[in-house]
Amino acid sequence: MEKKIFIKTFGCQMNEYDSNRIYDSVKKIGFKKTDDQTNTDCFVLNTCHIRDKAKEKVYHEIGRIKKIYRKKNKPIMVLAGCVAQAENQEMLKREPYIDIVIGPQSYHKINETLKQFISSVKKEETDFDTISKFEYFDKIENKSNKISAFLTIQEGCDKFCNFCVVPFTRGPEYSRPFNKILYEAESLIKNGAKEIILLGQNVNAYSYFENSKEYRISNLINELEKYSELKRIRYTTSHPRDMTDDLIDCYKNNKKLMPFIHLPIQSGSNKILKLMNRKHTVEEYINIYEKLKKINSEIEFSSDFIISYPGETNNDFNDTLNLVKKIKFINSYSFIFSPRPGTKAAELKLIDNETSKERLNEIQKYLFIHQIKKNRSFEGKFVEVLTENRTKDKLKLFGRNKFNNSVIFLGDENNIGKLVKVKIENTNQNSLFGKIQKNKSMKAA
Ligand code: SAM
Ligand code: SF4
Repeated sequence: MEKKIFIKTFGCQMNEYDSNRIYDSVKKIGFKKTDDQTNTDCFVLNTCHIRDKAKEKVYHEIGRIKKIYRKKNKPIMVLAGCVAQAENQEMLKREPYIDIVIGPQSYHKINETLKQFISSVKKEETDFDTISKFEYFDKIENKSNKISAFLTIQEGCDKFCNFCVVPFTRGPEYSRPFNKILYEAESLIKNGAKEIILLGQNVNAYSYFENSKEYRISNLINELEKYSELKRIRYTTSHPRDMTDDLIDCYKNNKKLMPFIHLPIQSGSNKILKLMNRKHTVEEYINIYEKLKKINSEIEFSSDFIISYPGETNNDFNDTLNLVKKIKFINSYSFIFSPRPGTKAAELKLIDNETSKERLNEIQKYLFIHQIKKNRSFEGKFVEVLTENRTKDKLKLFGRNKFNNSVIFLGDENNIGKLVKVKIENTNQNSLFGKIQKNKSMKAA
């Protein structure tokens, strides 16, 4: 009998990709996706553990779901994602409403686990079994029919930055076989993808060996470039240490590789980068920036910053501010340091709340100034947009420009899946707004 499944996703794009793949899998045992969270047979919470209060957020979410189902049959409650990996047994004990706990490396067992639960055994699956997971999913077609589709090529991390839970929740670095990735890319393209976003916790650390030959992300980009139906290639999240020359060189010749790079630096102070165990310096980062700008001055950067990492003085913070003023990041994420259980930085002395908030406000002021300025620079100009969908209210179209800005514009829905020229009329911090331009010969920004 067909059962309904509702998947709620928190956190990064990798979780979004995983949620889609979970759905591709459970479809095979009769589950059908629903958008109605008030009426489902199975509720999956795909969680994120990267910053504070992750567990509390999950308990809060379950409290909300319990209220919805107070007078109805309880859905099968599945806790997935990195919180499930990190907290497994404890959460099963503390919250009996949870039926199944399944970590990211065990998604290949989801069908088996659900079937066992339906025949009544509470289950916890949090083994690190990345290879079998991908082997399992390699046999299931990726049915994403999105114009801009995610494709995970690498998972996990061996870098162990002192603040970060990823090496514990996602396990060691693992790169998927080259040909399996291309096979999945082909199926995404067959289902309508015009843009592929290669994903990984350290996507540019991708390294796969076959017959003593190493395949890197640059090889993947070069292969993807050959698919004529594919219009754009992006990748995220990259690490400065893995920004090797072969990848930098891709920006010389690859027409489909977008001129926008999310490259987290975390801090502009070498002292703090060392305390964080980041394994790169500010100078190395600037060197990458300069090399890329020399290849194509149009390339723009975004970054992640951790503010008030233990030991950060006013001078260290000013170094970060100076970096932000030098490299005009067009869109960045900044967070106050959040101690994560099990990491080396978990026990360090925290910087007081007031100072941390002041620093966060200060850095965001500069980041937002650049962001708004960049967006305004498009006003009155034509930008090339890949049309992804209609807006939620169905009145307009939604797409992205080369720099990954969202663009909302008036136009015909026949343009979905196409590259169009949009005349930008106004902008705000997060989006550009305009009208489609019919004269395609116009040069676009
Ligand atoms: N692998 C990427 C890299 O090293 O640049 C980053 C991936 S991490 C999943 C995403 C971002 O979360 C990090 O760049 C960092 O800024 C932020 N983050 C991770 N742990 C954090 C913590 N304990 N407190 C605050 N922010 C954190
Ligand atoms: Fe986390 Fe990225 Fe550092 Fe790995 S490299 S530990 S994912 S911040």
